[in-house]
Amino acid sequence: MKQKQQQSGDTSPVLRDNMFTYDVVKVETMPCFHCNKTSVVTVPKDGYEQWKAGTYVQEAFPEMLKETREMLVSGTHPECWLIIFADDEGDDCDEG
Ligand SMILES: [Zn+2]
Repeated sequence: MKQKQQQSGDTSPVLRDNMFTYDVVKVETMPCFHCNKTSVVTVPKDGYEQWKAGTYVQEAFPEMLKETREMLVSGTHPECWLIIFADDEGDDCDEG
């Protein structure tokens, strides 16, 4: 089983390293309500400037996970939310 490689100069897979050329901003959150630690969230600069100008966080960062948005807004980690509300018996389903 022999195979000749006749294509020259094509030894690497398709490069897609242009995907990360947009500007980003690292935002330090407020201290978490539960564990009192801050986090750093990397966000697109475009959305960041909209957010700082008063745009709702969910509109400024539409592709961001809601857990991450919550960290931006309140500093509270997703896992800490679970702990905080673990005692809460209310079974609130407002997904969607
Ligand atoms: Zn926390």
